[in-house]
Amino acid sequence: MKAVRFFGHKDVRVVNDLEKPIPKGDEVLLKIGGAGVCHSDLHIIDEGTVVGTVFTLGHENAGWIEEVGSDVKGYKKGDAVLVYGPWGCGHCKPCQQSKENYCDHQSEMAYGGGLGLDGGMAEYMLVPSSRLLVPIYDLDPVVAAPLTDAALTPYSAIKRSIGKLTADEYVVVIGVGGLGHVALQILNEVSASTIIACDVTDAKLAFAKELGAAHVINSKDDNAAAQINTITGIKKAKVVLDFVGATSTIELGTKVVGLDGDLTIVGLGGGHYQYNMAGLPFGVSMTNPYWGSRVELMEVVGLARQKKIHIEIEQFKLDQANEVYDRMRNGKIKGRAVLIP
Ligand code: NAD
Ligand code: ZN
Ligand code: ZN
Repeated sequence: MKAVRFFGHKDVRVVNDLEKPIPKGDEVLLKIGGAGVCHSDLHIIDEGTVVGTVFTLGHENAGWIEEVGSDVKGYKKGDAVLVYGPWGCGHCKPCQQSKENYCDHQSEMAYGGGLGLDGGMAEYMLVPSSRLLVPIYDLDPVVAAPLTDAALTPYSAIKRSIGKLTADEYVVVIGVGGLGHVALQILNEVSASTIIACDVTDAKLAFAKELGAAHVINSKDDNAAAQINTITGIKKAKVVLDFVGATSTIELGTKVVGLDGDLTIVGLGGGHYQYNMAGLPFGVSMTNPYWGSRVELMEVVGLARQKKIHIEIEQFKLDQANEVYDRMRNGKIKGRAVLIP
């Protein structure tokens, strides 16, 4: 079968000679409908975040059940499902609570399909346990695939701060890409706070306006923090969601977050932060969340089925993977690119 494989630093190739896997025990074979292209792939490909292994890329996967192992119950051929991406041990306390993103054994394991193990940029994908599937019912797997990361990750980050996202407060969203464009929609549904969105191109800022941001600021401007602080006034922003995670965006976050606020750094942009007592208001919680729980993914599916969130999708073929990664490097994807076998 055809698959997009990571061979090492800056070496991604489309191959045609992989064996179609056969599921055993609790394993499930999926016919892939769509595989979302996440910026984390670029951190792997360009910066070598996962080294020493050859694997099929794609960690935002949805499709139809093709075949189940002998121990699988509750699923049948043709069922449409999402693959929950952070694969834990399945046994520890966080895993039992469906928070496999914080599995006690994360440091001993590959991160999941498409992140060290074979993922979904392929015609078929072997999922190691039916526990990692979330049904999507009437949703189209092509459109739904990015829900499992581009929607789940911001959803979980926003839920952490939900008590602070009241109508009298401001929330700043930095980076209106795959994750950020869904974050804006989730904020509109679950909170009444005024949204200020930042990105570095006029096109992304216009997109943020369409998605309900009350204010948009180009974070390349030297005075971006001052512009945001003029909007928020003395109280500053109660929540900052940074979907870039570069040193410059973390610095921006520290300048615009207010007392007792949340500064949530989701982006894996390799940024550095040096604690400076005078540079951070008292009571700020800084956090670096990773993905979300399987139960939260079910809630995200609910938002999508009610049409409260919509992923803007650009569709490509598996053969175009390298072209898509190039477009992403240059900030040229609107919403999310999805590869379709
Ligand atoms: P993307 O490429 O789709 O979007 C990134 C956006 O940020 C683009 O719109 C780009 O124009 C904008 N941007 C770049 N530099 C900026 C700056 N200085 N200020 C403001 N905006 C800027 O990426 P994505 O797939 O949405 O992923 C975003 C980040 O989140 C990546 O670092 C990715 O690895 C990370 N991520 C983290 C998790 C997690 O669980 N923590 C999960 C998924 C992705
Ligand atoms: Zn991702
Ligand atoms: Zn575990």
